This record gives sequence, C-alpha cells and structure tokens, in this order.
Amino acid sequence: MEKKSIDWENLGFGYIKTDYRFVSNYKNGAWDEGSLTEDANVVISECAGVLQYAQTIFEGMKAYTTADGRIVTFRPDLNGERMEQSAERLEMPAFPKDKFVEAVRRTVKANAAYVPPYGSGATLYVRPYMFGSSPVIGVKPADEYQFRIFTTPVGPYFKGGFKPLTIRISDFDRAAPRGTGHIKAGLNYAMSLHAIVDAHNQGYDENMYLDAATRTRVEETGGANFLFVTKDGKVVTPKSDSILPSITRRSLIQVAREYLGMEAEEREVYVDELKDFAECGLCGTAAVISPVGKVVDHGKEICFPSGMTEIGPVTKKLYDTLTGIQMGTIKAPEGWVVEV
Ligand SMILES: *Cc1c(COP(=O)(O)O)cnc(C)c1O
Repeated sequence: MEKKSIDWENLGFGYIKTDYRFVSNYKNGAWDEGSLTEDANVVISECAGVLQYAQTIFEGMKAYTTADGRIVTFRPDLNGERMEQSAERLEMPAFPKDKFVEAVRRTVKANAAYVPPYGSGATLYVRPYMFGSSPVIGVKPADEYQFRIFTTPVGPYFKGGFKPLTIRISDFDRAAPRGTGHIKAGLNYAMSLHAIVDAHNQGYDENMYLDAATRTRVEETGGANFLFVTKDGKVVTPKSDSILPSITRRSLIQVAREYLGMEAEEREVYVDELKDFAECGLCGTAAVISPVGKVVDHGKEICFPSGMTEIGPVTKKLYDTLTGIQMGTIKAPEGWVVEV
C-alpha cells in the first residue's frame, strides 16, 4: 500500500478528508449492517434531533504505525464501552461495542494510506460519532440515528519538545453533579466554548474546572483529565462522578503501578492542595500527557516545582512508558494494542 504524499512532520490538528468513512443507520429499532462510503457529506432533515436538541455523542482515538510496521489502535474496546454508556445517558440506541471495534478496524484499514509512518510523531485520528437523524420538534429522543466514523491524519502534538501549560481556575462550571460530565457528548463542548475562548483571550492555555457544587475540588479541563505527582512520588488523579473517564488517565494509573512500581490513587483533590504537588499534567488521547507548569487562581500563581521550561521527571517517565507501549517498543498488557 502506497502512503499518500503528506508532509507528516508538519501536519497540524485539523480536518483533512480521507478516502473512506463508515456509516450505519438505526431505523425501526435496529442498526443496519453498515458500510464504508466515499461520501463525506451527511444529509439529514432540517429538523433532525441533533440539530434541534443536540442529541449527539462521540469518541476520539488514534491509529498509528508501530516500530515493526503494524497499524494498531489503543484499547478500542474501552472507547466502544464508553460510547455505549454515553448513548444510554442521552436516550440513544447503543452501537454495540464489538461492532464498534470492528467498524474502527475496517475504517482504519480502508484509510491505511493515511496512517502516518512510525517515527513521524503524527497519527491517524479516528472520530466515531452518533446523532439523532430523524425529525424532532416536541422535546423527545429521535426515532432514527446515524453512527459514523471518519479519520483524519494529525500532526505530532509536541513539536520541538514539551512546553508546560499555564492554566487558570475557571469561574464557569463544566458539569453539574448528576449531570452529563461523565459522558462524551457534544453538549459538554458547546457550553465550554465561551470559557475556552475567554481563557485564550486572557493568555491562558486551558481552564481548570472545579466541582460545581462546592467549588473546592479539582475536576478536569474542557477535554483532558488531571494527573498530579506528590512530592513523595505518588501519582494522584481526581475522583469525581462528573469527570469524563479518560482512557489515557486510566492507562497511566496502571502504568505507574505495574511498570514504574509507583503508588497511584484516585481520590478527591482539593484546590488547597495544589501548592503541595510536585508535578501536574493533562491526560487525553491527543497528547497522552501535557505538562502543566502553573495554575493561576484569580491572580494567585501556583507554580509547580517542575517549572515552565521542562516536563516533570515522573510525568516524562509516564509519557515515555505509555508511548513506548503504544508504539510497540515496550511490551503491552494483554489487549491494549489492537492490530487493524
Ligand atoms: C475525551 C475526553 C478526555 C480524554 O479521554 P481519553 O479517553 O483519554 O482520550 C478527557 N476529558 C474530556 C472532557 C473528554 O471529552
């Protein structure tokens, strides 16, 4: 298979149309077989549930080339499982996770020419999503749905080294207790746009959202979970029912325990203890971990000892180990790396 002529090293994070996408329709209470198509356009009713009441969910994952030249994805079963849970919360029919994994495999395989080569740092981003496609005007779930997967090549997240982020504690809330913060739904992003545009205008890279009920506990950013390292070398991640269960974060906890022999705990993290941590990072599929150098709490700066020029040593070790597992240079736990 011949690769497309793309300048892999200089790709950004934008949409580039690839050759094939997967489409399956839900009608009369059942999903059809689904198929690959070259048509990148979605045609739906002007009154579709997704357009009127935002009934849409998505997933995000990557396909990449390993050191020995295989095209793989990372723990796609967990994305399939999470999408089933997102669907349930928004009264959408679940797209079964086994069919999900198979559809991801087929879509990536069909676009193999767009999977960046090993060592380029670039990856093929995979975006499964589902939306209410039939007309809805009185508020209720749609009767018909479409599940799709498209892929787009994206560039290396860290070009020219890690640059620690500066984030602010946001005065906006991301998710209510017992709300929808734990599912991957478009609606959580629509309402975060104002906060992120404002953060950027004020010179911050990201927002740190607190728990909406008490505003004393750390939740997450708009699209990544937090990971902290204590001064005595323990990994800590915030526990809350209103954060999105990041697959990267869950994998990093296991890496810390089983590969690095570290203690790792998921517990409530209070804003008051931020000043005591040695390192801070943001975890998600896009960057694996982005180091955070500074949190600004209404003018008060909380600077992590790892500083503003380099990634912290533990964060670096976690990053290197997980990316090594993903790229096939470190032996992966059973089922983590799935060949397409
Ligand atoms: C997708 C997402 C994450 C990261 O999850 P991964 O499975 O690691 O990619 C974190 N927070 C939010 C709000 C997200 O939507």
